[in-house]
Amino acid sequence: MGYYPKALERLVLELGKLPGIGEKTAQRLAFHIINLPEEEIIGLSEALITAKTKIVLCKKCFSITDKELCDICGNPNRDQKTICVVQNSRDIFAVEKTREYKGLYHVLHGAISPLEGIGPQDIKARELLLRIGENDIEEVIMATNATVEGEATAMYLGNLITPLGVKVTRLAKGIPIGADLEYTDEITLIKAFEGRNII
Ligand SMILES: [Zn+2]
Repeated sequence: MGYYPKALERLVLELGKLPGIGEKTAQRLAFHIINLPEEEIIGLSEALITAKTKIVLCKKCFSITDKELCDICGNPNRDQKTICVVQNSRDIFAVEKTREYKGLYHVLHGAISPLEGIGPQDIKARELLLRIGENDIEEVIMATNATVEGEATAMYLGNLITPLGVKVTRLAKGIPIGADLEYTDEITLIKAFEGRNII
């Protein structure tokens, strides 16, 4: 990239660090950006900074929000006795798109993976147990990914939650093995919710 001006080279490098952006795409984006009017560039950079500084984790479910409580936790019309446990905030958007689920969520921010050295203490597992202990919860739906880590996490949490007298269910096996929830299509996800089993 020696033939690029330094400033452009840096922009290509930074864009190339984003997921799914290869060098060619980074170059294309960089050229697009430098040709934008200045006010659009300012808007884009402000949006980046604002997103980073204003977005926090919901005090209750640990999803991303720009308030103390996210819109779902703050909505009294949601079923307060059901918690759907997901690995990351993006999974919530996948489930919400189905419009089938009316309960609350809990975001673990990962899954247990002994191979990668990720244990229960590295995800929001303790927070989930505290939440169940402090609230009148009837059902916890394990909607972790259909991967080895997702299954292990569902089993681990299920074994801790069931003795508390709370029904623990797992999404039905309609979700392809190895698939991330966020990439599962809506119909499959609706069916997986309808056919969930007690674990
Ligand atoms: Zn929340």
